[in-house]
Amino acid sequence: MKYRYLLVDRIPAKMQEGVVYHTEEYELAGLLCACGCGHRITLLVPDSHQVRDEGGYATIRPSVGVFDAPCKSHYVISAGNVQWLPAFTSAQAANIMHAQIARHVAADARPATWWKKAKAAVLSLLSKLRSLFAR
Ligand SMILES: [Zn+2]
Repeated sequence: MKYRYLLVDRIPAKMQEGVVYHTEEYELAGLLCACGCGHRITLLVPDSHQVRDEGGYATIRPSVGVFDAPCKSHYVISAGNVQWLPAFTSAQAANIMHAQIARHVAADARPATWWKKAKAAVLSLLSKLRSLFAR
């Protein structure tokens, strides 16, 4: 499977496998997990990830780490191709989340988008933390 890149107004409620949806207006990207588990992944673009169109295929940097689904998948997507990486340990996942919180605190210099991004970040982190403690 290769991930196509699709620029959209909104991330659709029902996503197709093999498509990376990117909305510049909401600064989000969405995709279904590459392992086939059906988990919806939402990325903050450009805060946490960069998403590029490479000839119709998606490139995502840095890697996508699934913390909030049982598969715990970890991979990078380059020109649509999935390269698998070792799964994060719980400690690594916690460190990454702490770094994300620190980045959002440091990003306060942009007042117009601050509130929107902070709210999205807090909601996303809460759902990740919930899944960590549920195990
Ligand atoms: Zn998965």
